[in-house]
Amino acid sequence: MEQDIESYFEQKGVKPTANRILVLKALRGEEHPVTLTDLELTLSPMDKSSIFRVLTLFLEQDIVHAFEDGRGLLNYELCGSEGPCDRRDEHIHFYCESCRQSFCMEDLPLPEMELPEGYTPHSLSFVIKGECPRCRRQHESD
Ligand SMILES: [Zn+2]
Ligand SMILES: [Zn+2]
Ligand SMILES: [Zn+2]
Repeated sequence: MEQDIESYFEQKGVKPTANRILVLKALRGEEHPVTLTDLELTLSPMDKSSIFRVLTLFLEQDIVHAFEDGRGLLNYELCGSEGPCDRRDEHIHFYCESCRQSFCMEDLPLPEMELPEGYTPHSLSFVIKGECPRCRRQHESD
């Protein structure tokens, strides 16, 4: 595992520092995309600004990508691809307004969009808001 993390960082062009390893492990342990606040809880007592610095580097080095959830908060998730972040690696997200969780719709790729000349996209958010199956079942049994 340790070895695997080091070679992963190497291939992404990132030095494996203690904090970076901890953040990567936390992200790998998550089932859903996470916010900075979620990570702060998981990684306590690491402070928020250290986590944020690591995430910013991870974004630059294509280790994670980020999108805004239904509250406008940035969610982070690990890139699936080996090399540079591939657009095909990104997908639509579903945000449940009841449990405030983001879900990956991995089988729903982002639609291809042709931007007018001169516009350079840096990130793209495609979030559907609603209720997840679990919350829906709970409502029905109320
Ligand atoms: Zn990516
Ligand atoms: Zn829900
Ligand atoms: Zn996702």
